[in-house]
Amino acid sequence: SGPGSGLGALGLTEVYIAVKTTQNFHKSRLQLLLDTWISRARKQTYIFTDGEDPALQERLGPHLVVTNCSAEHSHPALSCKMAAEFDAFLASGLSWFCHLDDDNYLNPKALLKLLSSFSPTLDVYVGKPSLDRPIMASEPMPNNQTRPVRFWFATGGAGFCINRKLARKMVPWASGSNFLSTSTSIRLPDDCTVGYIVESKLGRRLLPSPLFHSHLENLQVLRAAQLPNQVTLSYGIFEKKLNTIDLEGPFSAQEDPSRFRSLHCLLYPDTSWCP
Ligand code: UDP
Ligand code: MN
Repeated sequence: SGPGSGLGALGLTEVYIAVKTTQNFHKSRLQLLLDTWISRARKQTYIFTDGEDPALQERLGPHLVVTNCSAEHSHPALSCKMAAEFDAFLASGLSWFCHLDDDNYLNPKALLKLLSSFSPTLDVYVGKPSLDRPIMASEPMPNNQTRPVRFWFATGGAGFCINRKLARKMVPWASGSNFLSTSTSIRLPDDCTVGYIVESKLGRRLLPSPLFHSHLENLQVLRAAQLPNQVTLSYGIFEKKLNTIDLEGPFSAQEDPSRFRSLHCLLYPDTSWCP
């Protein structure tokens, strides 16, 4: 980067992308991501799972990280994976950590545009606020006392990013076994724990962005013309129905229930399997 390079200065090579998955979802979810957005960000993307998969290991090499975390949807199992992601990011030396679930579509171009907009002097934690108000938790104090704490956190299922400047300050609560201890101490899931560390322990703020999306919000309200600007999208069950972005094609809802293949062809029409 040099004078005048402006917002284009940040490259994807500075971003560490961690995707959380579980053995059960290697075929049903991960394959779709590998076929779509991960194919455009392969060098930057690391998949964190909980079970051996020789075929996938062969394909991804060091980009598949088999943690010792248990394969369940419990707070400790999910915190174990978040800790593994965080530690691997710290070891990578890269500038940005972005966490995603395996039902997220990431648009690397939109991500770079967003991350480039932050001054390097800032501590950055950016994502979609999970609630429209801060969450309350009880923080343990000496002598069996507790104190109420209120903080904002980004929905893990929409993805979020943290820069290295902030991540280094999070180490006492977030690295190694500390993440699980912190999560256990406030009895909240991994994504809440990240917010707690950033806001309650470090006094920094979640920077809200409307460009991250989980399937716990109505994805149909996004207009087709807005889709290329979104940093993350998702699909899944919301209010007992399949919640997806609304895109006409090129693939049918039967061929492409998540709509991710259709979105990928909209963003990257030169893809070999796009019509
Ligand atoms: N997940 C996991 N272990 C499990 C179940 C789920 O690591 O036992 C991961 C899953 O791969 C996904 C995230 O946790 O990345 C959220 O899971 P899911 O989308 O099934 O649930 P949600 O919380 O969105 O309803
Ligand atoms: Mn989900």
